[in-house]
Amino acid sequence: MKFNTKTIHGGQQHDLAYGAVMPPIYQTSTYAQTTPGGHKGFEYSRTHNPTRQALENAFASIENGKHGLAFGSGLAAIDAVIKLLSPGDEVISTNDLYGGTYRLFTKVFEGFGIKFHFIGMENAEKIESYVNENTKLIWVETPTNPMMNIIDIEAVSKVAKKHNVLLAVDNTFATPYLQRPLDLGADIVMHSATKYMGGHSDVVMGALIVKDDVIAEKLYFIQNASGAVCGPMDSFLVLRGIKTLHIRMQRHSENGKAIAEYLAKHPKIEKVYWPGFENHPNHEVAKRQMDDFGGMVSFVTKGNNYDEAIKIVENLKIFTLAESLGGVESLAGHPASMTHASIPKEEREKTGVVDSLIRLSVGIEDIDDLIHDLEQAIG
Ligand SMILES: *Cc1c(COP(=O)(O)O)cnc(C)c1O
Repeated sequence: MKFNTKTIHGGQQHDLAYGAVMPPIYQTSTYAQTTPGGHKGFEYSRTHNPTRQALENAFASIENGKHGLAFGSGLAAIDAVIKLLSPGDEVISTNDLYGGTYRLFTKVFEGFGIKFHFIGMENAEKIESYVNENTKLIWVETPTNPMMNIIDIEAVSKVAKKHNVLLAVDNTFATPYLQRPLDLGADIVMHSATKYMGGHSDVVMGALIVKDDVIAEKLYFIQNASGAVCGPMDSFLVLRGIKTLHIRMQRHSENGKAIAEYLAKHPKIEKVYWPGFENHPNHEVAKRQMDDFGGMVSFVTKGNNYDEAIKIVENLKIFTLAESLGGVESLAGHPASMTHASIPKEEREKTGVVDSLIRLSVGIEDIDDLIHDLEQAIG
């Protein structure tokens, strides 16, 4: 089955009870048993729920995995992955990381005796130099937020395999429409399904997808034992979102390209971060591992003026000033005062998050309206 069919049919069957074409929202916590243990595969909704299971099968299908697991948020999904580890274990993580992931690693799991190395992952030898006998996991996010750096998943997976270390990839920005990490050698794919998977900014959810039965069994155990599951209504909404993932991502990518190109020519813009440009430092890797470049675009203005950047995001009318990304509607964010405000200025500027950096989650509205909105806001 090809991707554009999988988004609609992958892992799905019509409802067994009445033949409902869309999976019903099984809003129930428990299931009747005829005799103790005599049930139809469902006992308690923390463990299993038919609506969540339909969604989990869809996750597995579109990422070319075998097992999908849905969680109450992206961070709950990451939390489950780190719970595969034990005190004394070490993780090598990219340093250009979603802020919430960094907070979970350093403020929660370091306290449980897990050691994290945050490094630039532009080359595989560098990653290998951090591997020792305690290394159990490599954590990759690509493209990164908000600098749109690209990490070569296949190259990292060779290092991981050589040293028998798990490789997990946060595929939130790309989605399986653009990039399928399991095919490139990753062991675990993670999503904040809050973003493109749900696609309509109406749900907070996380997902994990794996191929390996043993890893899956451990993760299912943690999912049930720790209990950070999502509800049936949210499962229904994300499953519905996935059915249009391919056409949304196609339009996000088209609009993202048009806006990146528009901004690159704008006399007031200093630099545009978008992996589709030939002069992007990892363009060749992006071209190899992604099918298109998506709808996330960041830029800085000439003069790098903080107040001017604030004015631009305030002046936008169609783009909404908000955190998050990946919905059908266009959003704009100012990392220095929003997502990265807690990081000291010198620290954030080292990674490129300067005062005038603006991040766009380009939606699927008419491109003329989006460009016109940027035009009037930038001036
Ligand atoms: C939003 C996000 C997360 C966290 O997911 P939540 O659903 O907000 O818990 C993790 N990684 C990336 C890249 C994200 O954008």
